[in-house]
Parts: sequence; C-alpha cells; structure tokens
Amino acid sequence: MSQFLPDYIVTYLPDAIQLIYLIATAFFIRGLKLLGSPATARKGNQLAATGMLIGIIVTLFDQQIVSFEWIIAGVLIGSLIGIILAKKVAMTAMPELVAVFNGFGGGASALVAWGELSKFADPSVMGNSSLVTTGLSIFIGSLTLTGSFVAFGKLKGFISGNAITFPGLNFINIASMIGVVVLIGVFTYDPANQTVFWIILSLSLLIGITSVIPIGGADMPVVISLLNSYSGLAASMAGFVLGNNLLIVSGALVGAAGLILTQIMCKAMNRSLFNVVFGSFGGDSSSGQVSGSDGDKTVRETSATDLAIQVAYASKVVIVPGYGLAVAQAQHIIKEVATKLEERGVQVKYGIHPVAGRMPGHMNVLLAEADVPYDQLYDMDQINPEFASTDVVLVIGANDVVNPMAKTSPGSPIYGMPILNVDEAKRTIVFKRSLSFGYAGIDNPLFYTEKNQMFFGDAKKSLQALNEALNDV
Ligand code: NDP
Repeated sequence: MSQFLPDYIVTYLPDAIQLIYLIATAFFIRGLKLLGSPATARKGNQLAATGMLIGIIVTLFDQQIVSFEWIIAGVLIGSLIGIILAKKVAMTAMPELVAVFNGFGGGASALVAWGELSKFADPSVMGNSSLVTTGLSIFIGSLTLTGSFVAFGKLKGFISGNAITFPGLNFINIASMIGVVVLIGVFTYDPANQTVFWIILSLSLLIGITSVIPIGGADMPVVISLLNSYSGLAASMAGFVLGNNLLIVSGALVGAAGLILTQIMCKAMNRSLFNVVFGSFGGDSSSGQVSGSDGDKTVRETSATDLAIQVAYASKVVIVPGYGLAVAQAQHIIKEVATKLEERGVQVKYGIHPVAGRMPGHMNVLLAEADVPYDQLYDMDQINPEFASTDVVLVIGANDVVNPMAKTSPGSPIYGMPILNVDEAKRTIVFKRSLSFGYAGIDNPLFYTEKNQMFFGDAKKSLQALNEALNDV
C-alpha cells in the first residue's frame, strides 16, 4: 500500500510501523490485564481486539508482506466466520471452538514460516537463527494444528473420548519430539535438503495426533489450553522468521497466558501437567451415564414445594453452580430464584470453584450473562469459611467440586483437589438428573449424607418449578 504514499512518508514508514506495533502491544497487555476480572473483561477484550486491528492496518503498509487485497479479503472472510461462530456457539461448546481457533493459529504460523522459506531459491541466505525459528515454527505450528483437531474431535465425539493408547506410545512420542529437534539442526545446516524438511513437517503433524489421542476426553480442556500456548509459541517463532516485532510479542503473550492458564487448571485439579499429558485420567467425557446408586446407600429426595419453604425461610443461601448448570442453561432462572429470595430478605451468595464447569471462568461467564451482580460471586477461598453459617446450599449441576472424597479418600482420583466445603452447611440440596458420576467418574458421598436432599431432574426445569413454588410460600 506504501506505493500510494508520498516519498517523505515512505522514508519514515519503517520506524513509524515499529512505533505503532509498540502501541498495539500496549493495547494487548492492557487488554490482558483487564481480562483478569469479570467486571472489566469486556473492555479488555475490546482493547485487545483494537490492538489487533491496529496491527493488521499497519501491516497493510508493510511492503514485505503479501498484497493488501489479500489481507483485506482475509480480514473480511475471517471476521465473517468469526462473527457467525461466536453468535452460534453454545457456552458448553466453547472449548471445541477454542480448539479449532488454536489449530488454525498453529497451522497459519507454520504456513507463514513455510511461505517465507519458499521465497528463497537458496534458503541458507536466511541465516542460522531464521532457519532454526522456521523449523520450530513449522514443528510447533503443525503439531498444534493436528493436535487441536484431535482434541476437537474428542470433545465433539467424532473420536472416542477414551484414552487411545498402547504400551510405549509415550516413549515413541518423546523420542519423535527429540528426533524433530535434531532434524531442525540438520535442516539449519543444510536447508536446501527437501527430504529433511518434509520429514520434519510430516513427523510434526503426526506427533500432534499421537500425543493428544492417548489423553482422555475429559482432560481435553487442559490440553486445549496447552495447545493454545503452543499456538502462541508458533506465532512468536513465525514473528522471528519475518522479523515482525508485533507477532513476536503477541505470540509470546499468548504462549505465556496459555501456559499460566494450564498451570492454574492443573493446580485447581491437584494434578501435574505430566499426569494430564501422560496419564489417562477421566477417560470418556460422556462418563456419568453410570448409575451411582448402590444397594445399601439411600438418598433423600425433595420437591419444589418443600424446597421453596426451606429456602424462603432461610437467612443465608449459597448457590454452587457446576457443569450441569451450563448444560441445562439454567443461569437465567437461578438468577430469578435468587432475586425472589433476596426480596424476602434472604442473603444470597454464589460459591464459584476455579474448575467448576469445563473451562476456567465458565461459571463466571454464564452468571454474568444472566446479570448476576459480580459482588455476589465468591471464589472458593472466600466462600469456604462461610458454609458453616449457611442454612441452605443449592448445588446446581455440580458434582466433583463438592465431593468430600477429595478430603477423605487418599485412593480417589480427586484426592487433594481443593473443594467447596458445602458439607459444612446446615442443609445441602443437589440438583441433578440422576446419581450419575461427574467428570472424575466417581461416586459422591455428599448425596447420601443426612443433611443432603436430592432434587432430581433437569436443572432448568427443577429451578422453574422452585421459582413457581416460591410464589405460594
Ligand atoms: P461435574 O462434571 O463433576 O458434574 C456435573 C454434574 O452435572 C453431573 O454429575 C451431571 O449429573 C449434572 N448434570 C448434567 N446435565 C445436567 C442437567 N441438564 N441438569 C442437571 N444436572 C445436570 O461438574 P463440576 O462442575 O462439579 O466439576 C467440574 C469437573 O470438570 C471437575 O472435575 C474439574 O476438574 C473438571 N474440569 C474442569 C475444567 C475447568 O477448567 N473448569 C477443565 C477440565 C476439567 P447427572 O448426569 O446426574 O445430571
């Protein structure tokens, strides 16, 4: 586009572009900071998107890159697909969407590096550091592409959510990764060697598949967060290949943010990243169809009318949302129930576990959608000391995050996972459809305690019944 500009502007253009890239980076960093709280997240998202728009516009002036007609066509088509997807996707399908985005991000970085490489008849003129980053970008980008699509397939059910593995697969994966790194060294030394290039590309695509396929479907959100980090790294590497500072910084930000998120998720589940990637916990994400009832265990059931009396005359009610609330799309009706209780003078709070649902912040986003005030949302450390003074806890479609086995059963897969201590409250009511297990695939002793009552059924329908019953109390 710079051919349309006067000469005196063209002279200063490279410096101006770098300066504007710096401004766009500031937008990204400020945007990320604002994403840290639900109250400011929208603004953060808008700021980061503005930074990206600035980056794209400035790139139009950068002569090294493809013609601006192509870029505008890409922006238009990409925006259109993005708008349609964002509008159509259900909250419960968000991890799948993120998986696809990561996959395309990784693939794009690999293509950028490959494109740069193919510009040179003799690639050795690129220099060693560019060749190393080209190899790394192709490696990380390609494995992110195939790995993300396997993760997508597992979440969607196209590919079995079970851990598909065989003895020695982990060893083969690690050996292949080391092999690719060695081959990148060979490629740097002899970049004209097409065979080495093709082996790097094919092996990287294969590693993406073989490293994600042995991971249980239920662990996919953590894997997706990790792949998100990889897609950032691949972009950053592509930035080094192109000598584009904005791409280096934004890729590094995505890489670091994805890794921090992965760590937060692992910590909240009390598992190591090694255990997630090389263990096969959780298995099929559709687990939960197995009945948890067993001969001598009995549960007490409640009805909408009975429950309406209990909550209407309580002084403090804590609502604990979980994955089932998202599945049932019960966020609006729970808000209506809470408002009715508040009008009667009941104090209502929401207790949010860091991994309630299937992605970090899942519950916060859902409740924000229903305009639940942020000051009623309490995280685990804030709400736990309050359960002892709570009259009724409404556990809506949550299971693992309130399972006392995490505290009492050293053999259980969730042992050590910090949980919401709802068992300390005077009464708990669990809303779910059956005694099926949650994500971890284990029974929950909370259901069988004297203080607990089950309200069986779809969470939305049960809450609608409670909402109506409250009118008659
Ligand atoms: P769980 O998966 O433990 O339990 C959800 C419960 O919801 C199920 O027991 C199910 O029981 C119930 N349910 C499903 N549909 C409905 C419906 N329509 N109406 C009512 N109930 C319904 O969810 P939690 O939120 O308690 O725990 C999250 C789990 O996910 C944790 O183990 C966590 O480690 C894991 N995880 C979370 C991640 C995150 O970042 N948030 C990432 C990766 C994993 P039923 O079938 O009987 O109705």
